Amino acid sequence: MRVGLWLAMSWLLMLGGCSVGKWRALLPPQWSGMRPVATSAGLSGIFVDAAMTPKQLYALRVAAIEARRRVALVWGDITTAPTLFACASEACFRRLGGSSNSAHSLGDHRIVLSPRALDAGTLAHEWSHAEMYRRSGGLLALPAVPRWFDEGIAVLVSREPRHGDAVWRKVAASGLAPPLASLWSHVQWLDAVRRYRDPLRNPRNLAVVYATAGHYVARWYRHAGRAGLLRVVRAIREGGDFASAWRAAGLDGAPVRQAAAVRRSCPCVRAASPGSSPRGSVRPGHGRSVPGRL
Ligand SMILES: [Zn+2]
Repeated sequence: MRVGLWLAMSWLLMLGGCSVGKWRALLPPQWSGMRPVATSAGLSGIFVDAAMTPKQLYALRVAAIEARRRVALVWGDITTAPTLFACASEACFRRLGGSSNSAHSLGDHRIVLSPRALDAGTLAHEWSHAEMYRRSGGLLALPAVPRWFDEGIAVLVSREPRHGDAVWRKVAASGLAPPLASLWSHVQWLDAVRRYRDPLRNPRNLAVVYATAGHYVARWYRHAGRAGLLRVVRAIREGGDFASAWRAAGLDGAPVRQAAAVRRSCPCVRAASPGSSPRGSVRPGHGRSVPGRL
């Protein structure tokens, strides 16, 4: 890719709050000590670090095939072919912007996995983010996609037990579930994830935020199906209002109306007035330019 395009993409991602480390994953992979291996599973490329063993690489290839299958089950045709950066060492993951999170993605271009998450569920989760990013219109459309919706679809795609219904039932029984209204923006989401890491608030360390988003979105998807999902995403891409599209998919829109009300009152996210396009409301430090996982 030409240097000019690298710089333009980097600038746009930094506008969206991308950390310098994650930005590095946009540079040529060899600059981060990654080596290319034969690609598979519809990915544009696979790069691994020197610590990756042949056995781990074989397992990664199997996981990639399974991840693609899971993405297709929810999204249908897959429109993205991200490049996978798979780290078998924490040093590699940190070089590419990781920390205590298990993986992150950069738009629809890059997926970075930590050595703790070289599995189908995590890769499917990040790949779903890439699909949402591409289909909804990319960086400028991000503020129009509620974070809980993007993450909830990713949880549905991934089938990861730690975000699943068994965890949701414990969350609900404990009275810990946050309202969707509090999980609309990138900043709100990250703040909730941080708050529920507090052992006094969440002594069993349940994945409260992911399980909550996954529960509500899975319930919606059971009614709306893939056709409903694609209608909602197309509406966002065309500048429509998310809440209207969600309701049109045929389920009770109460949580979304509540979320929309909070969104209008939130100073960190520009409100989308009825009939207006939510596009162009990107502000530095907000939105989901880099859908990281925590
Ligand atoms: Zn995610």
